[in-house]
Amino acid sequence: MARVHNFSAGPAALPLEVLTEVQAEFLDYAGSGMSVLEMSHRSGAYQAIIDDAEATLRRVLSIPDTYRILFLQGGATLQFAAVPLNLMRRGRAGYVVSGNFSKKAWQEAQRYGEAEVLATSAPTGFDRIPDLSPVSAAAAAGDLDYIHICQNNTIFGTTCWELPETGDTPLVADVSSCFLSFPLEVERYGLIYAGAQKNAGPAGVTVVIVRDDLIAEGPACADVCPSYLSYRTQADAGSMYNTPNTFGIYLTGKVFRWIERTGGLTAMEERNREKAHRLYDFLDASELFHGTAERGSRSISNVTFRTPSPELDAALIAGAAEHGITGIKGHRLVGGMRASLYNAVERESVDALVSYLASFEAAHTGRSL
Ligand SMILES: *Cc1c(COP(=O)(O)O)cnc(C)c1O
Repeated sequence: MARVHNFSAGPAALPLEVLTEVQAEFLDYAGSGMSVLEMSHRSGAYQAIIDDAEATLRRVLSIPDTYRILFLQGGATLQFAAVPLNLMRRGRAGYVVSGNFSKKAWQEAQRYGEAEVLATSAPTGFDRIPDLSPVSAAAAAGDLDYIHICQNNTIFGTTCWELPETGDTPLVADVSSCFLSFPLEVERYGLIYAGAQKNAGPAGVTVVIVRDDLIAEGPACADVCPSYLSYRTQADAGSMYNTPNTFGIYLTGKVFRWIERTGGLTAMEERNREKAHRLYDFLDASELFHGTAERGSRSISNVTFRTPSPELDAALIAGAAEHGITGIKGHRLVGGMRASLYNAVERESVDALVSYLASFEAAHTGRSL
């Protein structure tokens, strides 16, 4: 079996241990005589699977009892609508636009109320997290239903390392591409959401963690909010208002278990930082490649970089397969390269990438690193 060095931004690498476990249980789950794929979501066996996924996530992320955990469908993209539909009680929210996904979230919110841009790094091509002092000032004014940020900008390779102070205004964060990369102080957020396919599981599962008091009264735009999208409805139904992505939740639960038994989020963060430093150190010393994100905003999940020429970038990407390397092409919006270093990407894969980059640089500049 030849497994590649997979740097895909999502769907992305999953732990081999988890895939092997799923394979072993595929035809006959725990003596049930059937695959999880064939199991009723209303069965006791399946209830145990989703309960375990939720309980494990609660331990791994230290989620207080005052927060509900939902496993939904529709990706992070559907949450761009679900958040305003549920939380815009007075019709006004603030957005930090720090990349393409936060821009989409902001645009979607405008369909349901007033969505104001509080800070943006658009003028510098989203190469950094913008100055967030206007966010705290807007929060202090007290007339926003929530403030939305995208914590890790998958396409641009930036992370918001210092959360803005939002006082009593709930902070809502799209954490899709940094979810479970490092510990989060859940108490600082009103709501967190993540598409699982970046770092936590397969496509088709979206995790929402929401403070109970924010959904106590049901959706704000009750008339137009689809029942499926009501956090209150989904929380009351245990994420089973309708048939959930049963297999996806099962697999995601296995990833939570894998994180827990390999040292939890502190260990994940340490490994992820080592991997990212290995690559950033190489890029900083290189004369051919350069990282595109401003240093203080650098992501440890998605490392974006380029050469001075699109032709060289293309040659590098084309030659990667020969080295067993895949998924390093940058997002179509920005070009260049991107290596996603999610939890399941091994240190050896990063070493293989760095050594390929070094040999490419030597071949194209005559300089050896
Ligand atoms: C991938 C991604 C999305 C979109 O996710 P879907 O699950 O495809 O809807 C949104 N936000 C961020 C930060 C992402 O990385």
